[in-house]
Amino acid sequence: MVRAAALLPEVKSHYGDLKNYVGGGWRAAEATDWLEDTNPATGHVIARVPLSTKDDVDAAVQEALRGWDAWRRMPPLDRARHFFALRDLMEQRFEDLSRVVVQDMGKTIEEARGEVRRAIENVEVAAGIPSLMMGYNLADGAGAGIDEEVSYEPLGVFAGISPFNFPVMVQFWFWPYAVATGNCWIAKPSERDPAPMQLVMELVQRAGFPAGVVSLVHGAKDTVNAILDHPEIRGVSFVGSSAVARLVYSRAAAKGKRVQAGGGAKNVLVVMPDAKLDKVVSNLVSSCYGCAGERCLAGSIVVGVGEVHADLRRKFSDAAAALKVGYGLDETVQMGPVISSAHRDRVVGFIDRGEEEGAKVVLDGRSIRVAGYDGYFVGPTVLDAVRPEMSVARKEIFGPVASLFESEGLEEAVETINRSPYGNAATIYTSSGKDARDFRSRVRAGNVGINVGVAAPMAYFPFGGMKDSFFGDLHPQSRDAIRFFTDSKVVITRWP
Ligand code: NAD
Repeated sequence: MVRAAALLPEVKSHYGDLKNYVGGGWRAAEATDWLEDTNPATGHVIARVPLSTKDDVDAAVQEALRGWDAWRRMPPLDRARHFFALRDLMEQRFEDLSRVVVQDMGKTIEEARGEVRRAIENVEVAAGIPSLMMGYNLADGAGAGIDEEVSYEPLGVFAGISPFNFPVMVQFWFWPYAVATGNCWIAKPSERDPAPMQLVMELVQRAGFPAGVVSLVHGAKDTVNAILDHPEIRGVSFVGSSAVARLVYSRAAAKGKRVQAGGGAKNVLVVMPDAKLDKVVSNLVSSCYGCAGERCLAGSIVVGVGEVHADLRRKFSDAAAALKVGYGLDETVQMGPVISSAHRDRVVGFIDRGEEEGAKVVLDGRSIRVAGYDGYFVGPTVLDAVRPEMSVARKEIFGPVASLFESEGLEEAVETINRSPYGNAATIYTSSGKDARDFRSRVRAGNVGINVGVAAPMAYFPFGGMKDSFFGDLHPQSRDAIRFFTDSKVVITRWP
């Protein structure tokens, strides 16, 4: 190996046997089963992850309950000060946090910096809790001399279960709002890349959050089920694949919990004949191949409307072919590996099946080799002449594979979007205000881009999702999150 990973600035090369963060300290899990966590670019094992048991989950819940009363009674402004402290610590360790994300998840350093920035933004927004949590009142609201008011109150212990693709950011869609409103939080990160949340908890500890208010419990399916079944956990925030989101939603709801559960995606990008193609192409490429296609907002199907298609196919494939693939800690790399060897095999299997079903492989990433690295790489891939019934057109691939459709008009393109069981994101590229307006009002997708390929809501807006891309009603981030993590209490007052 010429370019050994050690030559690039990793934070640590090994994180050892991970511990849970419970009751304000690090605690070995009771778990007897462990998983190996690998760096997707090098294939090296960088940590061992305990599969925490029911008792481990219960220990975190009991510590949370011990800390809850004092935390909920703390004035919102004082709770907010913990978030100001955390924000400063995250800024100080910004590069380290970003580099651990690259090392454990595989995205590029620039993409990781973007992820950590989004996490910090959620801390900044949640620090405004004294304003965000205000209720409202109406003098004489219930009759002459009878006033009525509503206030928002925390419920107790919440848990957050997150996917591998944004190992830091997705937890931050939820927990700053849950904790700022006066609840306690138990984070269960993905077992495939838990190291970044380990570093986050070190900062949470240094920011002075009281014992039990924020916990970290490692694990996989059985740990999740212990969370869903625990009688003292009042609600669950989940993000992952649709199949698991559906299971989590129904199991937690059956136990009387509040649930918000984001699922998978199959996002469509529509290029109209009047789009400015030269500007559109780089935007399309970053949507389809950013984070190696492992983004829930990634473009997966590109629809060329009318005469634009031939030109689009050529320019898009040329731009995709020019991407530099490698270990994301190298600042010049533009696309990293996928998360695991099993996932690489799954993505390659999709390309094989697409070809068998009649798609034309215009750009083939199946046999890419990256000099010096034995990780899980798949090169950018473009499939043309894809038809709606093909598996590559219907299923979420979650890899660097774009399928090109040709469409006669906007009507057909909108149908392509609305017939999908998913509804996470949809984009139109056009110069026509009329077509853009028609598109935004008709597509059934929760995050819509007009000449924007990754329509990622900022922290002060909810992160949308419809159909099988979201189960529940109140979404992550912002005012939706405040409502999800609080109960309304109405008080009617008369002083005779
Ligand atoms: P996943 O569903 O495999 O895992 C997500 C979480 O669920 C993990 O913490 C995992 O430990 C747990 N889990 C896995 N199987 C389980 C089971 N059978 N029972 C209980 N818990 C289980 O998802 P992933 O592969 O980590 O992440 C990728 C998926 O997440 C993609 O489908 C992607 O579209 C989706 N995603 C959606 C959004 C969104 O906002 N809708 C955002 C990011 C990712």
